[in-house]
Amino acid sequence: MPLQIRRAGVVSFLRENLLTLLTIIGVVAGTLLGWGLRATGYEWTRREVMYFQYPGELFLRMLKCLIVPLLVSSIVSAIGSLDLSLSGKVGLRAIIYYMTTTVCAVMLGIALVTTIKPGRNSEAFSQPAGTKLTKDVLTADTILDLIRNVFPENIVQATIASYRTRLAYDVNDTRAIKGHLETYKIEGDYQKGSNVLGLVCFSIVLGITLGKMGEKSRPLQNFFHTLSEAMMIITGWVIWLSPLGVFFLVTAKIMEIESFSELVGRLGMYFMTVLLGLFLHGFGTLSILFVLATKKLPCRYIAKMGQVMATAFGTASSSATMPITIGCCDEMGLDPRITRFVIPIGATINMDGTALYEAVAAIFIAQLRKVEMSFGKIVAVSVTATAASIGAAGIPQAGLVTMVMVLDTVNLPAEDVSIILAVDWLLDRFRTTINVVCDALGAIIVASLSQADIEKTRQNNDKELATAHELSDLEKGEH
Ligand code: ASP
Repeated sequence: MPLQIRRAGVVSFLRENLLTLLTIIGVVAGTLLGWGLRATGYEWTRREVMYFQYPGELFLRMLKCLIVPLLVSSIVSAIGSLDLSLSGKVGLRAIIYYMTTTVCAVMLGIALVTTIKPGRNSEAFSQPAGTKLTKDVLTADTILDLIRNVFPENIVQATIASYRTRLAYDVNDTRAIKGHLETYKIEGDYQKGSNVLGLVCFSIVLGITLGKMGEKSRPLQNFFHTLSEAMMIITGWVIWLSPLGVFFLVTAKIMEIESFSELVGRLGMYFMTVLLGLFLHGFGTLSILFVLATKKLPCRYIAKMGQVMATAFGTASSSATMPITIGCCDEMGLDPRITRFVIPIGATINMDGTALYEAVAAIFIAQLRKVEMSFGKIVAVSVTATAASIGAAGIPQAGLVTMVMVLDTVNLPAEDVSIILAVDWLLDRFRTTINVVCDALGAIIVASLSQADIEKTRQNNDKELATAHELSDLEKGEH
């Protein structure tokens, strides 16, 4: 190949992928600088780390600010513009994909942790589990909260807070004196952070309604469509800050690490088990499903997701990465109605990496605590790990919070989460990367499976339009 052509190829590759390359460089440079600053031996104070993190924090705030308007407008406009039966089919395909991949991830995690047994010989944590000092909310409470949040009682409140059950202790409770075991009151509370699940559910219903209302709903549909387009334009601007944003976020995170020895020492095997699981799931299970569903190889598509992966790794948040994931799917030429429908839902409920990690972590802790794992308990862990991944918010380390529910199924106290805390920040970045890759691959799969239906609906609409025109021409002729 002549040198000039080759050089032109390299230049056009660099131009097309400049942002992705810069973001990846941001991650690598941030890691190196973080380690370099640690190596100086200087004890960085929290305030100094905060200053380092500050530019990254601003980037994260800009992305987060786009989540609610983008999520609501995308889902409403996508569903509103799809034929009702078509949106049903698309939704069903997406849900089947999410469930299949999540169940596969959990099973893979369980298979790995029970074969590798990372917690088997660890002496460091061999003391028996302490008696529970506090009574944590039960698995049932968490699952009921999950369902409560699907139906927000106030949609405005759902943009800023979500519901959580709290157990309040009352030592003077007379029922306890009468011999009842429950010495607490069950209370509800709203905690900070958007109720994304409720927003998704409301947007789906609103989208379906607008679709049903037809022409009358046009102004509102146009509003949501324009809002979604506007949010994507802003995303296009914010995205250019991602190299710098992830650079500072990663640097500060590395400076913050408390104990490097735990990462490679006591928790090393656990860390490697989760990492191996995520790798096998991403490159094995998801790739196989992709090939089966689309009859195409995923490599070309995954290669185009560099920007998405680097941002997910840098921010550790699938929700914050969502605008960038939608942008990436648009660039790949997917039908925007499909992308805007399935990506926001996927970013909220489809977290394979989190599901795999929840299962591995709970069984790892049970191994450390020498808790016998019967078949029934393993099934319970897989069910609760799936629910925990659906309930986890797309924000950094949200999996740790829902982990309490999985631990409860094996009778371990919530405090045991602290065992895996030292490595969680890093695992979080890897599992978030898998979470978003799974969403993006899902959008491609659903788009490819729905292609024929979309084409058929378009032809039917064209036919209806042509008949309507003919009729009106006839009427005009008669007059
Ligand atoms: N950080 C993850 C996400 O945003 C959730 C988690 O596993 O903690 O996808």
